[in-house]
Amino acid sequence: MKKVLVVGGAGYVGSHMVKMLLQANMEVVVLDNLSTGHRDAVLGGEFVEGDTADAACLNRVFREHRFDGVIHFASSTQVGESVKKPGDYYRNNFCNTLNLLDAQIRHEVDVFIFSSTAAIFGNPIQVPIDETHPSRPINPYGRSKWMVEQALRDYDVAHGLRSACLRYFNAAGSDPEGELGERHEPESHLIPLVLRAASGRRENISIFGSDYKTRDGTCVRDYVHVVDLCQAHLLALKQLWKGSGSSVYNLGNGQGFTVQEVISTSEEVTGRKIPVVRTQRREGDADTLVAVSNKAERLLGWDPQFSDLGTIIEHAWLYEKKVAGLK
Ligand code: UDP
Repeated sequence: MKKVLVVGGAGYVGSHMVKMLLQANMEVVVLDNLSTGHRDAVLGGEFVEGDTADAACLNRVFREHRFDGVIHFASSTQVGESVKKPGDYYRNNFCNTLNLLDAQIRHEVDVFIFSSTAAIFGNPIQVPIDETHPSRPINPYGRSKWMVEQALRDYDVAHGLRSACLRYFNAAGSDPEGELGERHEPESHLIPLVLRAASGRRENISIFGSDYKTRDGTCVRDYVHVVDLCQAHLLALKQLWKGSGSSVYNLGNGQGFTVQEVISTSEEVTGRKIPVVRTQRREGDADTLVAVSNKAERLLGWDPQFSDLGTIIEHAWLYEKKVAGLK
């Protein structure tokens, strides 16, 4: 039986990953400092409350368990906050990841899956974005993630640590069984906010900018179902276990949807009218961010099951209804 350390396993994508690993009959240990994650989102395995800043804690975890691989989700993810507190972002996302890598090398664990992001690309010079697109991140969040990707190449050369960097576009949706969902506080992501406006947990949804060069003037994003993302992690892990070398993959659904389309589809799925307020652009938003994910499909055999926007929103709505106490 394979044993996997999931760092950040109490968070949004991490908690879905833990569920999938358990369903795949793997042993799971979760390390999470619960700064943004939730203990009750960890549906099984062993839970360790701890921080990647704490080298002694990391050593203890690796001493106590013989892991076959590490999946690293834990990071700070708010772009705006990263601009205001760059030190926190470089420390948590970069320095603390080095602590984790150093601990795993010390304990001879040579497989690592990294949650990366489309933010490493910055403003795209061409869309859709494939893995060869230049990386010119435009904020400390994106830069801190890109720094890890670069360090991973060096760790491979120096220590034989094999990794897969998975660059998520817009992670969205929830567990189709309704047990898990997206629980950021404060929430800043479009789909959960739109659904809160549908359930009545907020008054309305703001559309940030209606004058972009897109089909309806609102920004286009590539929403990829969280379960499909987790599937890609599992496939990448298995590939590394078979002996593959380090690699990077863009993970998106290959189709872009506008903010307006997300709202209209949410109205159809929920059968509720969603009040909209049109406001000015949010700083730093690109018109269109859409991935090419052929590489993951070709090399990992990734086959996303939930690429339909209606299905993504339907699953997210299951969770929102549960939280809002609706039938
Ligand atoms: N957005 C919006 N209103 C909101 C939140 C987001 O119009 O209340 C827009 C945002 O400008 C972007 C898209 O929705 O174009 C997706 O934003 P999100 O924060 O979910 O993800 P990002 O693309 O920033 O990673």
